[in-house]
Amino acid sequence: MKTPVVAIVGRPNVGKSTIFNRIINERVSIVEDTPGVTRDRIYAHANWLGRNFSLIDTGGIQLGNDEFNEEIKAQAEVAIDEADVIVFLTDVTAHLTLMDETIAKMLFKTNKPVILAVNKADNPEQRNDIFDFYSLGLGDPIPISGAHGTGIGDLLDEIIKNFPEENELEEDDTVKFSFIGRPNVGKSSLVNALLGEERVIVSDIEGTTRDAIDTKFTADGTEFTMVDTAGIRKRGKVYEKTEKYAVMRALSAIDRSDVVLVVIDAETGIIEQDKHVAGYAHEAGRGIVIVVNKWDLIEKDNHSMKEFETKVRQEFSYLEYAPIVFVSARTKQRIAKLPELVKKVHANQNQRIQSAVLNDLLLEATRITPTPLVNGKRLRVYYMTQVATNPPTFVVFVNDPDLLHFSYQRFLINQLRQNFDFTGTPIKLIPRERK
Ligand code: GDP
Ligand code: GDP
Repeated sequence: MKTPVVAIVGRPNVGKSTIFNRIINERVSIVEDTPGVTRDRIYAHANWLGRNFSLIDTGGIQLGNDEFNEEIKAQAEVAIDEADVIVFLTDVTAHLTLMDETIAKMLFKTNKPVILAVNKADNPEQRNDIFDFYSLGLGDPIPISGAHGTGIGDLLDEIIKNFPEENELEEDDTVKFSFIGRPNVGKSSLVNALLGEERVIVSDIEGTTRDAIDTKFTADGTEFTMVDTAGIRKRGKVYEKTEKYAVMRALSAIDRSDVVLVVIDAETGIIEQDKHVAGYAHEAGRGIVIVVNKWDLIEKDNHSMKEFETKVRQEFSYLEYAPIVFVSARTKQRIAKLPELVKKVHANQNQRIQSAVLNDLLLEATRITPTPLVNGKRLRVYYMTQVATNPPTFVVFVNDPDLLHFSYQRFLINQLRQNFDFTGTPIKLIPRERK
């Protein structure tokens, strides 16, 4: 099921980022050794009463513009374009301001649900001082306090009440993938090359709650959904040029994809920003293919591909499982291979290995590389079973999970990779103590 998207809008200083952090509840996981995971997030996952959703703090999308109204307008547009539910935040201590009224007018234009929250209602008097806000015409204001955490539960109740119907969020079983990469690596050219190559019925899915953002096509008898092609094709809004927005859009596309195609520019080589992008995809646990585009611009000899591959492997050491493909959107070299590759990775990430087979493997693995002694205590690995797919996730029962160090985990994962085709997919290992 697609996760609904909630956006917080409001003028500066009303407490958007405070509320954002309250709602995501610091449950944001930051994987330290993944480069480039932004600390000051504007997009995160949240959960309330078992409902998952994504949350956007539109205040983080800044144009760097002196014009206050332009900034606010862009932020309101992001909310209107991206969200299923909009939270409009105001500040009781500042009372109703002209700018609140301006924002309300913009939000009137959308038919998406708008929830009005009045922040900084830290005490009972302030909680009763919210009647002004009725005049915005957005229904009952909800008094909250980001500082004290009061009213947040009521706000969240109201948010999930306004989510689209479950059937509107249902997903088909097509193979979903997206092109991710910094600007100018050739994402939109790749989209167009691929759609030109696959002479098949192309249909923009008419999203029930969002704009048509995905493109479906069929290749080799498999149905694919190219996620967020609208975002890639650039609709020409001012905020789309901001870095934060681009990151947010990429994260949201990754969320909705089975397989992520990380695009690199062969001509300019790998730069820091590429690592950020790849880091997001890796952290999300999606299938990954590294696509080296603009291969037509490289003067090639017999070693070019090997050399470039070595560089990619060095720079993205944590993506050792990802296949690399050298393409050109311009000449269409190997473009037709992409759907095939995506399909293969998707099959790998959904592969299920029987426990009996896994345990034969485990016996053999522990025979060739005996389990380590840690502080005089021997690690014992009893049993392994696959508990999930996409990504393939294995629970390993051991005598003491603390003894299963990273290096032996990696050894076990390598054994899995050597015995089964898990190309393109990360593998998760969960140590459990056998009682
Ligand atoms: P943003 O610009 O809308 O993202 O606002 P911030 O979250 O940065 O908050 C602006 C200021 O308001 C900060 O100094 C916060 O500490 C303060 N603030 C946020 N929520 C509350 C609240 O519920 N009560 C009070 N008294 N202050 C708050
Ligand atoms: P995006 O920002 O990642 O969507 O990148 P674009 O698709 O807009 O491409 C950026 C620039 O690179 C454009 O000028 C394209 O014509 C060019 N480009 C894209 N793919 C290729 C390619 O395979 N070969 C060459 N030579 N140029 C390319």
